[in-house]
Amino acid sequence: MVPLVMATWLAKQGVEREARIHLQSTAQWAIRRAQLSFEGARQALDAMQQSTEPACSTAHIAHMQSLTANTRFIEEIGYFEGGLLRCNSWGTVATPVHQGAADYLLDDGTEVFTAIRPQVGNGTAMVGLQRGNYNVLIIPSRLADVLTDSPMQIGLVANNGALLAYNDGADRARLATLVQGAQPPAGMWVEQAQAPGWRAIVVSPQTSFSSLLNAQWLWLLPLAIVCAAALVGLVAWLCYRRLSPLGELQIAVSRGEFEVHYQPIMHLAGGQCVGAEALVRWRRPDGSLVRPDLFIPLAEESGLIQPITDQVLALIVKDLGPLLRRHPQLHIAVNLCAEDLKSGRALPVIKRVLEGSGIDPAQLWLEATERGFMDIERARQTIEAAREAGHRVAIDDFGTGYSSLQYLQGLPLDVLKIDKAFIDTIGADAATSAVTGYIIDMAHELGLGIVAEGVETLAQAEYLKARQVDYVQGWLYARALPLEQFLAFFEEHRAPAEGAGA
Ligand code: C2E
Ligand code: CA
Ligand code: CA
Repeated sequence: MVPLVMATWLAKQGVEREARIHLQSTAQWAIRRAQLSFEGARQALDAMQQSTEPACSTAHIAHMQSLTANTRFIEEIGYFEGGLLRCNSWGTVATPVHQGAADYLLDDGTEVFTAIRPQVGNGTAMVGLQRGNYNVLIIPSRLADVLTDSPMQIGLVANNGALLAYNDGADRARLATLVQGAQPPAGMWVEQAQAPGWRAIVVSPQTSFSSLLNAQWLWLLPLAIVCAAALVGLVAWLCYRRLSPLGELQIAVSRGEFEVHYQPIMHLAGGQCVGAEALVRWRRPDGSLVRPDLFIPLAEESGLIQPITDQVLALIVKDLGPLLRRHPQLHIAVNLCAEDLKSGRALPVIKRVLEGSGIDPAQLWLEATERGFMDIERARQTIEAAREAGHRVAIDDFGTGYSSLQYLQGLPLDVLKIDKAFIDTIGADAATSAVTGYIIDMAHELGLGIVAEGVETLAQAEYLKARQVDYVQGWLYARALPLEQFLAFFEEHRAPAEGAGA
């Protein structure tokens, strides 16, 4: 709507501007024409002043006649003596006609009579100019009779402010009020022009310029439609970006709105903090924190997970670089997505961020869920490459997928993370909790390190300790902590021997 309204407004403005320029030039042209006719009349008067024929002789009258015929705009020339009209270009005058008093004077001394009723003719008032003994008569409409391409009313104003002439069809009364400075009537445009001794006023109905409006529309309308379409597109795009979760996530990725929290991983027997799992958080511009469950699936689906993984890796190095250098036994576990495992794309990224950081690749554990093992051959290649690079690889959420056992046999893994679902069963009836024991036994059998996830109670911890589980992670020890809190937690829970030796 805005471009369309704008275009309408612009079109109307454009038409008015053009129309006013047109009316202006018509007014100026009317003044020029009046000046020319006055000049012609003045020359005729001067020519008669010079005449030497005896007054009102046949030759004198013939002279006046020929000048009348040869001068444009002049209808009649008259000769006065003693304030009375003696003869004119038509012949001698029988009844006496008084010269009367002039309405105003021109700068050159010419007297101007605004309304003379001549002897001959149909009785229309004429404009008279008098110099010395002679006067000339001009039909006023001739003064203002400018050719126009559209209906206009043209008025000429003398320098005494009187409406001296107007064109045929003009509304005399209306022109007179406009000359006095009245407001233009609705639907009309009024323009004036001025020259020394003259003023012209031109009035035109606005509808006369509707063809101009069409011309303006011709180029403004397509432009407006294009602008409107572009605006609609822009708004739709912005809404999509703002309102769709994917759009929001895209913005978050491009602005790097992520931070990493660290959940301590504890050595169960000794009770020290030996590592942490890096868990990503989305810090929204309003300050709220979004849990990964809410955006990781969307990120995986859309491919945005890869730049997120990259940002997480960079943040780990930035956050924990000094700590990891001071404590070479400390490790950080990173979650890789299925795509990372399939393509192996994350490995060169990891190599790059670790380069020159002073962090030992062995300090970076990679966690992969079974979803990453669908293409088992490629997963194996990635895992082997990761282990060659010095990392340790953990199978995450173990037991929640369909073919966990197959993966355990087929893949060169280091660590098994028992899913919280199994830890939750500890202390429940024997049938349910038995599986947890089997998983632990199996992991021992295969020589895998074990991390029990989601440990929330002392009873669970006791059970796991009795089963010789190496590491635990859960709210019993700490939640995922922001950097500063994790650093403090680590200072409190690090291995004393290591602390002394550092
Ligand atoms: P996960 O890898 O299984 O991570 C463990 C989740 O369990 C974390 O949730 C953690 O806060 C929560 N948790 C830990 N201990 C306890 C406990 O004692 N009780 C309970 N109720 N929960 C506990 P979080 O941080 O919401 O992460 C959810 C999932 O998001 C993660 O599951 C992981 O799959 C994914 N994720 C997190 N960070 C990343 C990341 O950087 N990259 C990728 N690809 N995935 C990530
Ligand atoms: Ca994990
Ligand atoms: Ca897990």
